[in-house]
Amino acid sequence: MTTLFTRIINGEIPGVFVYKDDTVVAFMDIFPYNPGHVLVVPRQAVDTLDQLDPEVAAQMFRVTRKLCAAIRRSDIPADALKIIVNDGPAAGQEVPHVHLHIQPRLEAERGMRKPPPEMANTEALQAVADKIIAALRE
Ligand code: 5GP
Repeated sequence: MTTLFTRIINGEIPGVFVYKDDTVVAFMDIFPYNPGHVLVVPRQAVDTLDQLDPEVAAQMFRVTRKLCAAIRRSDIPADALKIIVNDGPAAGQEVPHVHLHIQPRLEAERGMRKPPPEMANTEALQAVADKIIAALRE
């Protein structure tokens, strides 16, 4: 199955990556809820979490944990991090390739209904990605 995310992973569509290994990649969400919104995506293209090889799922969570630590170390505003898997269309999944969202959340926005996110430009995404990449190295 070729998905939008497979095409990003293969470089056919541009993506702003913060992490890559043989199993999992992570790139910036193009419609960020807040700056620093990252998608953790397995190379294995299956729709839902239950279809994922268990070791791939474990690696997805290991990478998520590292990225959460990096975002918290960086100066990206994040009072908390929301970790989301929309596991099927009725749960809000738009891309049928299992993935996990890491969204920086702010105390001031707690309980707030935000307008739908706008598409971010590549320069803005890269600037935030650079902070995450630098913090991953710390
Ligand atoms: P879902 O709703 O499937 O859990 O999340 C899919 C996410 O992919 C959304 O947050 C959406 O903003 C993001 N997205 C959609 N198209 C693209 C794209 O072309 N590039 C990137 N980087 N993210 C995308």
